[in-house]
This record gives sequence, C-alpha cells and structure tokens, in this order.
Amino acid sequence: MHNLNDPQLLKSFSYINGSWHSSASDIAVNNPATGKLVAKVSNAGIAETELAVQAAKAAFKAWSAKSANERSALLRTWFNLMMANQEDLGRILTLEQGKPLAEAKGEIAYGAAFIEWFAEEGKRVYGDTIPAPSGDKRIVVIKQPIGVVAAITPWNFPNAMIARKAAAALASGCTFVVRPATQTPLSALAMAELAERAGIPAGVFNVVVGDDARGMGKVLTEHEDVAKFTFTGSTGVGKSLISQCASTVKKVSMELGGNAPFIVFDDADIDAAVAGALVSKYRNAGQTCVCTNRILVQEGALVQFTEKFVAAVKDLVLGNGLDEGVTIGPMISAQAVGDVKRLIDDSINQGAQLALGEDDSKLGDSKLGDSFLAPTILTGVTNDMSIAHNEIFGPVSPIISFKTEAEAIAIANDTEFGLASYFYSRDIGRIWRVAEGLDFGMVGINEGLISNAAAPFGGMKQSGNGREGSKYGLDDYLEIKYLCMGGLDQ
Ligand code: NAP
Repeated sequence: MHNLNDPQLLKSFSYINGSWHSSASDIAVNNPATGKLVAKVSNAGIAETELAVQAAKAAFKAWSAKSANERSALLRTWFNLMMANQEDLGRILTLEQGKPLAEAKGEIAYGAAFIEWFAEEGKRVYGDTIPAPSGDKRIVVIKQPIGVVAAITPWNFPNAMIARKAAAALASGCTFVVRPATQTPLSALAMAELAERAGIPAGVFNVVVGDDARGMGKVLTEHEDVAKFTFTGSTGVGKSLISQCASTVKKVSMELGGNAPFIVFDDADIDAAVAGALVSKYRNAGQTCVCTNRILVQEGALVQFTEKFVAAVKDLVLGNGLDEGVTIGPMISAQAVGDVKRLIDDSINQGAQLALGEDDSKLGDSKLGDSFLAPTILTGVTNDMSIAHNEIFGPVSPIISFKTEAEAIAIANDTEFGLASYFYSRDIGRIWRVAEGLDFGMVGINEGLISNAAAPFGGMKQSGNGREGSKYGLDDYLEIKYLCMGGLDQ
C-alpha cells in the first residue's frame, strides 16, 4: 500500500511503553493534495497520555543510568535506520503533509541529523570545578537529566520537529512523550517503529496520537511527573501552554511563530538574493516558522530584484508532491488557503498590487483541489498593512521598499516576533551593523537556508525561548547541580 518498500512503517496505533495501543475510535489522516484517506489511526486520549507519562517515568531510572556511550550507540542505530528508510519515511511524510517528495526526504535527513548530532553531543555533558571562596571547600558542578520530557509538535515538519527534541532529550538521559499534530501522526509513529527496531527500551520514547489537543495537552503540561515541557507551534497556543506549566513550575522551552524579514540592500548580489528569497519563502509552500514573511528591498535594487524574483517564482511547479517535477505542494488544508487568501485580498484592498498570482503560475495539474494556492507576489506593500504584521504561513511574498539602512532595521524589528531574519549585502561594515541590529534569534547573511543540526535554532521576543540543535541544545534537558564539599581542612 502507498508503494512503501516496508509497509510495516505505516502504523495505526499510539506507541506507549514499547507496545502499540488501540483505542475505541479512529482519526482519518487525509492527503492534503487529493483529500483522499491515507490511513486511519487509533484516537488516543487523556487516559493513554497518562499511561505514556507513567511509562516514561518508570523507564527514566534505567535509561538515565546508562552510560552516555550506551545511549549514543542506540541513538546512532536509530539514525542509521532513519536514513536506511529515508525513501519510505519521505513518502509517508508527503502523503500526510503534502510537501514535494524531494523536500520530504530532505526533512528526514534533517531530522535524522539531530539524532546523529546528539548521539555525539551526549558524550560531552561536561561539568565544572570552581575555585571556592575558602580553602576548606571545593565546588563541583555536575549536570543531570531533568526527568520525563513531554512535547507537543506541529504538522509542518512532522518528523524533524520531533527529532530535534527527542534526540536531545534521550541523549541527555531523559525519557520522552510526544503528542504529534492530529493531521500528521504517521511520521511520528514511523519514528517509533524505528526506535523500537533500534533497541531503544520500552517507555523511553512514547507517541500518543489523539485529537483531544486540549485534554492531552493538559496532562502533558500539568502532570507532576513531567519535569520539562517543550512545544513547537503557534505563539497563541504556546502562551496558554506556558501558563498551564506554571502550576508545577516546569522547565519550558518554546519554538513559536515568526515574521521573518528578508532585506535586500542596493549593494547585494541580486541573483543570490533572488535564489535565497525563493528557498526561504516557498519551501514547504511557505509553511515554515523561518519562512520569509516580508521582503524589504532598497529603492535602488527594487526594479531589478522584483523582475528577477517574479521570473524565478513563475518557474515553480505546483502540484501533488508525489508527482515528478513538482516543486511546490498543497497547503495543509483548504481552510489554511482561505486564511492566506484573505490576507492577499486585504493587502490589495489596502493598496498593494498583484505582481504574480493564480493566473501566472505553472500548474503541474489543471485539476488541483482547494488545498492549493499558487505562488503569489505582492508589490507596493507598506509596513502599515496587515500582511506585514501577520505570520502568513503560505506561498505569498509581500515586497516593501525602503530608503536607508536604519529604516530597514526599524521595519524589520517592528514585530512581536524574533525568530529568523535574512539580509543580503556585500558591505562588511553594513553586515556587522545590520546583523547586530536585528532583534532575531537567527540571522541569515547572504543565505536563505540556515537550519542545521550544528547551529542553535530558536527565537527571541514572542518567538519563544530555548535553543534546539548545537552544543546548546542539551541545556534544556539538563539540571545543573552544585556540589559543595566542606570540612577539608586538616
Ligand atoms: P498550533 O495550532 O499551535 O498547533 C501546534 C500543536 O499544538 C499541534 O499538535 C496542535 O494539535 C497542538 N495544540 C493546539 N491547540 C492546543 C491546546 N489548546 N492545547 C494543547 N495542544 C494544542 O500550530 P500549527 O498551526 O500546527 O503550526 C504552525 C505554527 O507553528 C506557526 O506559528 C509556526 O511558526 C510554528 N512553528 C514554529 C517552529 C519553531 O521552531 N519556532 C517550527 C515549526 C512551526 P492539533 O494538531 O490537534 O491541532
């Protein structure tokens, strides 16, 4: 079914304490490109979430007692299995999420890279010795796994958003419960199947699938046995989950929404800027938190950039992600298309012009359904329009022109978000000034694709807190413990 080399990767049940749990009702997982049923998955709820937390609690003692090397070997096996099954995992991802198969396989490699990275980084959880203020004492700092980690993840990266968290948690010695997005549970369950094959012990990695987001979320955020909660999703939901975590004072990390500026200065390499904007905007049909949300172009480069960008975007091929040659897939749902269309209409009503839209794009298939939105470019956008202040989360580029460097920085920072930002310039002084002036956790300089396992991914302001990946990524899963040894005088 679905042309998988290994049909066993398509699972229908939650994975709790090393076994597959069925429930009384099902969730239908539909292909956003066709609307057709991909699979039915058992609809777990509060009781199963509680079971998963208990399983993770029970597994914590033995898992945290393993040596870093032992955990590393198991994580590496998990990584190897993900890469060996990249084709199938990519296919499952495209079927439930919509992104083109090449992009889906790229997400599998990206997610797996975090497992490989933390398999190594887990061996380097170093402590400190600190000179004590008096001679009869010694100060030693050790780091220990925090305990049971609970996670809630979104549909836009059904594999990688889980891998980034689970790899760091497991490498630190924590056990893990994730509730994936209702629309995309299959990639999470395939990861569980491979974790089991890798020999990761029962209870260490649990996946509970269910459509009661609120009820299951309450268990994961309010449970006394959960020490840490980590979330990737919208800022609105993130805020309410932070407040739920307050009742048990959990350690919390949040990867939330973004409103990335992409600034093109007069001195930029325009062709490079066009290529960077294309990948940072239209990847995943514009549905990533680091997607360019506003393109700011200095007046001297405006005509040239816009012409070249429109020509490049026109070449994208919209269609079913499993079809050959398709470079941009559907959005997650017809409702998501409606939301983005409203932003386009608002912008036009507020004075923007449609430089590229439905009538211009190369459609891979003339009978595309209502989950598809053609790549769109709006010119004449100004910073007071609603599109400049909303996370678009769709394939639309609003172009705003500016005169000076200071004006560009001011417009870029005029948002409550602070996740990714990008700018193109060849002036070394400007590069430092702008990089330091942007209030964003990540800055792409002459680069539109910035995410990788070695780099700290995360946001400032209302885009969240904590960092995923890199040497900093373990910190969110570790407690710092200070040991004071006294009475050392003879
Ligand atoms: P969302 O609506 O916040 O949903 C994210 C997850 O939270 C889903 O699993 C959802 O479950 C669950 N959820 C929703 N309401 C909940 C509640 N009241 N209690 C507990 N859980 C709840 O976000 P989305 O639309 O799926 O994802 C898009 C957002 O994620 C964008 O804002 C994007 O920028 C952000 N994002 C951020 C990053 C980052 O690293 N900073 C990465 C990717 C995405 P259901 O599936 O059942 O609704």
